[in-house]
Amino acid sequence: MSRILIVEDEQHLAQGLRFNLAADDHDVEMVDTGEAALERLLSNPTRFDLVILDVMLPGITGFAVVADLRRAGQFLPVLMLTARGRAEDVLQGFQSGADDYLPKPFELPILMARVRGLLRRREWFQLGLDRQPSAPTVASRFTFRERTIDFEQLEVRMGDKAMPLTLMEASLLRYLVEHEGRPVSRKTILEKVWGVREDTDTRAIDNFIVRLRRYLEDEPARPRHVQTVRGVGYRFVADPD
Ligand code: CA
Repeated sequence: MSRILIVEDEQHLAQGLRFNLAADDHDVEMVDTGEAALERLLSNPTRFDLVILDVMLPGITGFAVVADLRRAGQFLPVLMLTARGRAEDVLQGFQSGADDYLPKPFELPILMARVRGLLRRREWFQLGLDRQPSAPTVASRFTFRERTIDFEQLEVRMGDKAMPLTLMEASLLRYLVEHEGRPVSRKTILEKVWGVREDTDTRAIDNFIVRLRRYLEDEPARPRHVQTVRGVGYRFVADPD
């Protein structure tokens, strides 16, 4: 059983979500403003395992909520509900620190699959089992050049600077590092990292890559470690020379 906070001002939708998540054995709480969400989340950092966050709320937006959470050092998974066809919503959501997004209106089974994917990922991290049985294992830390990725602390360190990673950023990075030197496709990343098989917009992955490059590259616009493999996906190279 996981504890999920729903932040949604459309009562009908919020009730439907609660009903279905409760039927899936989750403990669900609901609030209808971003302010109320922050109050609950910041007053008790371990109370929830996942947040389902609407973007358009009566007071502060979902973007502001997730940005505040991350600034406060809370990195629990956040699934954002965005308006359909608004690419800028998706981009802004990921820039704010969301882990996944779903455009409204959505199919309930897809939402449930996303929730399961995010929760499974969180459990793997907590158990330290975040890897495929056949894949080479990566220790909790990985150092290359002058950077250290700490998969347990969820941060990238460089000198005395530490950059926090969200759960999904760390998951994606770990997957790339485990397959160092080999190209991995966007489809494989969606399945293995997000745990979903539906047609998720691949921009989600591309946006995560843009963020990872900010942490890992000296010149993010000219990436050397997180390389694009044209027509396939991405490849991590620790030592490109
Ligand atoms: Ca709304």
